[in-house]
Amino acid sequence: MASSMKLNDTLAVSSPTAHAAPAAAKLAFDFLDLKAQFRSLRGEVMDAISRVMESQIFILGPEVKALEEEYAKEFDAKFVVSCASGSDALILALIAAGVGKDDEVITAPFSFVATAGSIARVGAKPVFVDIDPATFNIDAAKISAAITPKTKAVMPVHLFGQAADMDTVKAMVAGKNIAVIEDAAQAIGSKYCGEFVGNIGDFGCFSFFPSKNLGGAGDGGLITAQTPEAADKLRLLRVHGSRKKYHHEILGTNSRLDALQAAILRVKLRHLAEWTDGRRAKAQRYRELFAELNLSDFIAAPPEPAAAHHHVYNQFSIRCVQRGALREHLSHAGIPTEVYYPIPLHLQPAFSYLGYGPGDFPQAEAASRQVLALPVFPELTEQQQQSVVQAISEFYLR
Ligand SMILES: *Cc1c(COP(=O)(O)O)cnc(C)c1O
Repeated sequence: MASSMKLNDTLAVSSPTAHAAPAAAKLAFDFLDLKAQFRSLRGEVMDAISRVMESQIFILGPEVKALEEEYAKEFDAKFVVSCASGSDALILALIAAGVGKDDEVITAPFSFVATAGSIARVGAKPVFVDIDPATFNIDAAKISAAITPKTKAVMPVHLFGQAADMDTVKAMVAGKNIAVIEDAAQAIGSKYCGEFVGNIGDFGCFSFFPSKNLGGAGDGGLITAQTPEAADKLRLLRVHGSRKKYHHEILGTNSRLDALQAAILRVKLRHLAEWTDGRRAKAQRYRELFAELNLSDFIAAPPEPAAAHHHVYNQFSIRCVQRGALREHLSHAGIPTEVYYPIPLHLQPAFSYLGYGPGDFPQAEAASRQVLALPVFPELTEQQQQSVVQAISEFYLR
């Protein structure tokens, strides 16, 4: 399961010699080129925007309903409720699951801040469990040791587009009245054992932030639910707990997906499968290009999971040694990279009140030091991919 090599910071091979800018001409491109995508969709997107403007229906209404139905059809989801963002999706799912003050929710420390942030925002306590170095996802076998009588939910994250080990997650909470809330913000269309993420736990939470695989023209989110009661609660929560105007059954909030976003997302949803294939092909190409080089002392590409665990590559994150110097070298060569995430959540000042410290989650901390995300989007060209790999090999092999 783990890649054959073990990257270890202390193993940090040869000190970096001075790396001059590469001889090759600068081939600057974006880490994620959304303009290319818009150019290919301009007509369809502009028509969708016009349609909403002509209707002047901006809050909920037919576009939002249609997006929810089309999502459900595409991804075999039972109940679908859209909302204002991926962060809100997590918060609404937690509330719908009955999580609140003094409850505990188990999650991974290697994620975007909203994962643990949403737990804290509903008054509950995030309880971290370290990650599996092979997948960057929660080490599900360690969940049982973190369960207490206060544990109300587990929130695995399908990081970078790869599903967490959901069979083990579910086995850990079986018979314990603990909800499973999937943070699938980076993983739309991803599969675990042939099943779409979001349909495996009690709730699935998705984000339409522009850099996600299905990105809107702004913020947006979506929640999948397994029962009509849960879906009903979510629909109430997103409109101030109201079924009938000015009658408020429960305390809710304002968290709707804009009709304009829904209309744009409907256009993009029709292309998502093809884009996902593109991302997967780019990931495979990176692996081939790296395999041709002798870089295994320096970097490790993420291994392709078994076919039933369909990875959608929101990010292609390698592990590397001497990351800072490598990034600088790449930047000089016009190669954009990102680090998701440089500080694990348990070491963020915002979570200092939880009392964690360095060394508590060694795998998450190592990942934070080693990961480097390379550009991976459907429009990325062969030449661009070769330039990325060439610049990396220049850095290590000279
Ligand atoms: C993007 C993201 C979120 C939050 O989504 P927003 O739409 O930006 O609020 C939550 N969790 C993870 C893992 C994410 O990547």
